[in-house]
Amino acid sequence: MTDRLLSGHASCPGCAVALAVRLVLQALPARTVLVVPPSCIALLMGPLPLASTTLPVFQTAFETTAAAAAGLARAYRARGEEATVVCLAGDGGTYDIGLQALSGAAERNEDFLYVCFDNEAYQNTGNQKSGATPWGARTTSTPAGKTTRKKDIVEILAAHQIPYAATASPAHPEDLAQKIARALTHRGTRFLLLTCPCVPGWGIPDDASLHTVRAAVEARVVPLYEVEDGTRYHITHWPAGIPVAEYLRTQARYAHLVDFEIEAIQAEVDRRWDALLDRVARSRRLAAEPRQPLVSAT
Ligand code: SF4
Repeated sequence: MTDRLLSGHASCPGCAVALAVRLVLQALPARTVLVVPPSCIALLMGPLPLASTTLPVFQTAFETTAAAAAGLARAYRARGEEATVVCLAGDGGTYDIGLQALSGAAERNEDFLYVCFDNEAYQNTGNQKSGATPWGARTTSTPAGKTTRKKDIVEILAAHQIPYAATASPAHPEDLAQKIARALTHRGTRFLLLTCPCVPGWGIPDDASLHTVRAAVEARVVPLYEVEDGTRYHITHWPAGIPVAEYLRTQARYAHLVDFEIEAIQAEVDRRWDALLDRVARSRRLAAEPRQPLVSAT
């Protein structure tokens, strides 16, 4: 396994994004080109002439990650060169600003792997809320707590019926490596959502990132699963089902919530988990009827 993230980068101490980027880069082939929009990852990659990775990086505009990746993948193919194109984006650049380009690329089944490092707000500009910020979380632009839900981005991508979509966590590195390996066996648009606690944004100690994301997984706030062709769901880690309060209460962004609000979040998490189990059960029935993909990779 080759370490492709170099020491001395600019992320905060204890940053889960930095660890997640390191794990993702280790799992990629040597002939990989990275596409990175503005984000904590862009800062991590290093401002010119500095660099924190040994892989080539194309830094693009916020809204154009998927369009740039599609163009690069097509250009390599036109030149007859083998290269894996991988987008490394934050949640703001994925759920909000880059969603139009990502949806268009997914509809065309463009050939790249898109990894979203979800720290649930625009953290590199000072913790403003994004479409990934959960209900109730305090950010600098929702000081009383967010009043709308987090978008379900995996379901949005699965609805495009792309070959592969999955969730992952930097606290489950073997599961993450297996998902990248599986994504690389497909051609076309592949999507990976990595939940990454942010030390200042979530209000946690700088040694608590992995403990926090583990609690998110075991509370079923962040279920670990994968979806093939938008229809075949598979849970890759069965959570213990700890109370959501155990996850929320360690984070300053949720410190203002009162008991009935936490109960409402628990009910929402339970509802989403039941919906996921329904999709898993439905996909077991579909497994008996294999089908040919309608849209081949562009
Ligand atoms: S602001 Fe948050 S996500 Fe960004 S580098 Fe710091 S800890 Fe990591």
